[in-house]
Amino acid sequence: MKLTHQPRIALVTGAGRGIGKAIAEKLAADGHTVLCVSKNPASCGPVADAINAAGGKAKAYPVDVADPVVVAQTCEAILKEYECVDIVVNNAGITKDNLVIRMTETDWNDVISTNLSSAFYWVKGLVRPMTRKRWGRIINIGSVVGCIGNPGQANYAAAKAGMHGLTMSLAREFASRNITANTIAPGFITTDMTDKLTEEQKAAAMKVVPLQRFGTTDEIASMVDFLASENAGYITGQVFSVDGGMAI
Ligand code: NDP
Repeated sequence: MKLTHQPRIALVTGAGRGIGKAIAEKLAADGHTVLCVSKNPASCGPVADAINAAGGKAKAYPVDVADPVVVAQTCEAILKEYECVDIVVNNAGITKDNLVIRMTETDWNDVISTNLSSAFYWVKGLVRPMTRKRWGRIINIGSVVGCIGNPGQANYAAAKAGMHGLTMSLAREFASRNITANTIAPGFITTDMTDKLTEEQKAAAMKVVPLQRFGTTDEIASMVDFLASENAGYITGQVFSVDGGMAI
């Protein structure tokens, strides 16, 4: 039986470009109000404007997700306006690749704080009203690299594997309040992040993807949309690979 669909308040980090933009657009098209977070106002602003122009509901929040003080202040302001954010999608992420022997402590810390600690900050700031409402969805965007590792990406792989540890703990901690937490682990998806790869790196990537192509941002957004829905209410603590078969 199909369950009823309720419009919710959703927050998406990294909504200014790539996967996060597609997630924001998909959730908005589904009738949810979308709070679009990105670092640069010139990035999340136009995304929110376009959603509003298309008849949806969105608001832009230019915030550095790696800054716990600013995230906490933003969460407070959001909760004054919306009372409860029902769906939190932690998608913002960066890469600062290097072999461990050459990786600086700054590159390690920047990736851990932007890709992993940020998810903790947003959940900490937004989860209390969800627990009172007894409904919530936390969706963390991990990576195939967090499941299998990658030379040159020790910081990124550690952050993404850590994100799934966080997800499983959140799933257990908030299950009694009907809040689910899941990770999506994308493989190679066509965005600014993968545009940085050299042609050799792209060719090497193709060799390890059974479906023989990069994924689209929409293919990740569709999985988020499902996990955010009523129909996914009995799924929690899981990691879903959307990677063309890469991690089989
Ligand atoms: P993009 O580089 O295209 O976009 C990243 C988004 O994150 C941007 O909107 C950017 O903001 C935002 N962001 C980065 N740092 C911060 C920060 N400190 N504070 C606020 N916002 C920030 O990335 P993708 O769309 O490719 O990736 C999205 C997520 O998916 C990431 O977590 C990534 O690790 C993951 N992923 C991506 C894969 C891929 O192949 N593309 C594969 C596996 C996982 P702004 O626009 O303002 O710069």
